[in-house]
Parts: sequence; C-alpha cells; structure tokens
Amino acid sequence: MRVCALYPDLLNIYADRGNLLVLERRCAWRGLSFELRTSSLGDGLDGELHDLYYLGGGQDRDQQLCAEDLIATKADALRQAAARGAVVLGVCGGYQLLGHSYSLGEEQIAGVGLLDLHTVREPGPRLIGNVAIEATGLAAARGGAAARGAAARHVLAGFENHGGRTSLGAGQQPLGRVLAGHGNDGRSGYEGAVSGNVIGTYLHGPLLPKNVWFADWLIATALGIGAADLAALPDELEAATHADAVRVAGA
Ligand code: GLN
Repeated sequence: MRVCALYPDLLNIYADRGNLLVLERRCAWRGLSFELRTSSLGDGLDGELHDLYYLGGGQDRDQQLCAEDLIATKADALRQAAARGAVVLGVCGGYQLLGHSYSLGEEQIAGVGLLDLHTVREPGPRLIGNVAIEATGLAAARGGAAARGAAARHVLAGFENHGGRTSLGAGQQPLGRVLAGHGNDGRSGYEGAVSGNVIGTYLHGPLLPKNVWFADWLIATALGIGAADLAALPDELEAATHADAVRVAGA
C-alpha cells in the first residue's frame, strides 16, 4: 500500500494525520507492506507511484498557501492519479481543494476540480460539531441497487468545523446524507462528495480511527481488491469507538 500525504506539515488540523496512522497500522496488522511518502510546498508529485493520495484540513491561510502550490506543481499529477483509479481522499480543507474553487469574500482560491463543487465562505457562523452521516455515496458511485443497500448500512461519524459552505454540481454524488450535524452547507442534507475513487468529506476526528470500516474500504479500493478479501481484525475497541462517535453526534 503506497500512500502519499500532501502537505502533512500544513494540512493537519484536528490530528488529521491520525488517518495515516490507522491506514499504516491496519496494513501492518495484516502483513501488508505500507509505504508513506510526503509531498509538500515546492515538491513534485508522481501521479503513477501511489495507491492513495491524501489531503488533510487546515486553516484558511495555510490552505491558501497549499492551494497555490497544488495548482502550480501537483494538480496534473493528481488528475492523472485519479484518472487511473488511485484513491484520492480529502478532508475538510483538503476536500474543498478537490473542488473547483473556495471563495472568501473578494478572494477566490482555485481547486483541482476533481469533484464538481464550489465552496463559499458565507457570512454566518462556522459549522461546528459532531456529525454522523449515512455513507450512501460509496456504492452509489459504482451503481447497483444491491451495492447501494449494503452501503446504506455504513455510518461515518466525526467532527466538523468549517466556515466554507460547499455546493455540489447537479450531477455530483454526495458521500452521504447527514444523520446529525451540518454537512456540506447546513442546508442540503448532503455531506462530502465522491466521484469514482476521489472522495471528499468534512469529517475530522480524525476520521479513520472512528470509522475503521472506511479505512478498510480505502485500503481495499486502493489495492484493487474487495473489502471482504482483507483479513478480519479484532475490532472490539474500534467498534466501541465508532458507536461512541455516533452517539455523541446524536444519531
Ligand atoms: N479553512 C476551511 C474552512 O474553514 C477548512 C477548515 C478545516 O479544514 N477544518 O472552511
């Protein structure tokens, strides 16, 4: 499993780095080799080399620095990676950068446009709190009612804190439906977005320690195998963590 973390020094709010630790540990427990590389400001990016590309969240200022660099030095490689089916995961600020743009008043930060969405920093309170969603989008993006039914049983829980409100384009599949919390914009009832293997979400927490089923989904998808092909792990503690996160979200 070859992972590349983009800007881990700048986009690491709410311990988003924990997502990488979970991927590493769950691979190691199964005897799967795991390689983590990083690419930050000014570094190149190889769109052929990695199975999963990861962007965490950040404050507007750090996000802006990264956005300029992303467009200048990495966007083409990231699009190439997505086109060959590599997993691209963006959390919060990273999610916003996977869309077309993030507008803050007069300023507009360009994104890489892998997801059909725009984010606007509207006046009004930040959208903060515990959140739970039904992740209907993962299977729906791949089609098939049976798959959609299976995915509907999957709940993701986490914590959100964003000033940006994200609107999805007409054909853009959301990652899921909000069960409790704000989601993309506090109005639509949608959270996150998914196109093929490109996934964005506002869920911090970090996301994967609270939702190890999704960590396994990402590993399996990145490796091109089914989640059922991964060896089962004793996940009692992880299941309790997940249940707690869903409970505190009020779902
Ligand atoms: N800066 C972005 C916003 O406030 C993302 C914040 C974050 O990553 N938590 O909307």
